[in-house]
Amino acid sequence: MAAPAHRRSLRARRTLVVSAAVVAAGVGAGVVVMNANATAVDVYHQTLAAKDGWASSGTGTTGGTKADAAHTFTVSTRAQLVKALGSASDTTPRIIKVKGTIDANTDDSGKKLTCADYASGTGYSLSAYLKAYDPATYGTSKLPSGTQEKARAAAQTKQAKNIVFKVPANTTVVGVPGTKAGISGGMLQIQNVDNVIVRNLTFAATEDCFPQWDPTDGDDGNWNSNYDSVTLRGATHVWADHNTFTDAPHLDSANPKYYGREYQIHDGALDITKSSDLVTVSRNQFTNHDKTMLIGSSDSEPSGKLRVSIHHNIWKGIVQRAPLARVGQVHIYNNYYDVTTLNGYATQYSINSRAKAQVVAENNYWKVPAGGKVAKLLSGDGTGSVKGSGNLVNGTVTDLVAAYNAASSKDLRTTVNWTPALTTGLESSAKNLPTSLATTTGAGVLTAS
Ligand code: CA
Ligand code: CA
Repeated sequence: MAAPAHRRSLRARRTLVVSAAVVAAGVGAGVVVMNANATAVDVYHQTLAAKDGWASSGTGTTGGTKADAAHTFTVSTRAQLVKALGSASDTTPRIIKVKGTIDANTDDSGKKLTCADYASGTGYSLSAYLKAYDPATYGTSKLPSGTQEKARAAAQTKQAKNIVFKVPANTTVVGVPGTKAGISGGMLQIQNVDNVIVRNLTFAATEDCFPQWDPTDGDDGNWNSNYDSVTLRGATHVWADHNTFTDAPHLDSANPKYYGREYQIHDGALDITKSSDLVTVSRNQFTNHDKTMLIGSSDSEPSGKLRVSIHHNIWKGIVQRAPLARVGQVHIYNNYYDVTTLNGYATQYSINSRAKAQVVAENNYWKVPAGGKVAKLLSGDGTGSVKGSGNLVNGTVTDLVAAYNAASSKDLRTTVNWTPALTTGLESSAKNLPTSLATTTGAGVLTAS
């Protein structure tokens, strides 16, 4: 039953692409029109449909669809991926087809690299680090500094050189259907570039070998890590679609504790920060993760950016930040949140609106365990807004904001300064989402054409 429904949705999207091109008749329209009769814009050349969220505004999001043959790559190893990405400042359109799973922790010859390989030659050791910055002797008022912290940073830099993939403008990175395509242990960094599509990829096991201790983070200090599976920093027009994000196989339940705090090797799954803008996040699966999606990394990010649409995603086994929104206009619709505990990942909250964020959350579905949590599905600092209707909790229409505000001293504001207009595909009822999204989201469900 599910597969036909999925094909229908793809067909609908193609139709929209074509009609938008005909109306616009502008640069690039010819590419789409050529495909008009074939119903065959393949998965590699697909562009974001008209009005499909914030990333469709203005020039829209076409990724590498105009790539010539010389800039169309199929890659199966880390070295091939690096070569295909080229220079981060080269704006030539490119399509990168990822075939199978690429292990980011491999060298240029494909040999597996371990944390010990990165630490080698730096003088870093975890035991020496733990001894140097033990709060009992080092105190809790200042960040680690000195020999071991320098060594840790050096080792971290070595790992970063290996696992961070810088994506240039006008690029589509897409998994080849049927190949379990994905990137393991890596971070796609989309920084200060425009027009990028990331589709049909499984991002797993993005891990920092060298978490940093910060005794000033929170009441008891925290171990913090550096890598998101996909990170947007000052990026514009980005479409992240049909991807799967997971910590597996190393789940947080396997993290040890040092200084009484979890030694967290993960950071975000998909973070959108540093004045990134015009982003559409659709039909992904976010699973088994703690700090999942940050929109804005500081309360002082400037206003006017961080506009993000998040629709038809599954969030399952997520602790927090689904998303944490700051500053921007964020539209969250037709998502399915399963907040029952999964593999030890217990939900603290789903959506946090802070730093005057203007969130419209409508027609989403929450599955909550017996006994509740309805008042804890949202979070905020007292300056963020959340508006919206049609949200279901276990099938029942529920005013999540009212429930949250009744139980909290830092109330969410209930008015927003905008009305979403880029809402192609918005479903007016969340009722069927748990079923329909199960087979139409994440990596592996797209076909080649
Ligand atoms: Ca991050
Ligand atoms: Ca209150």
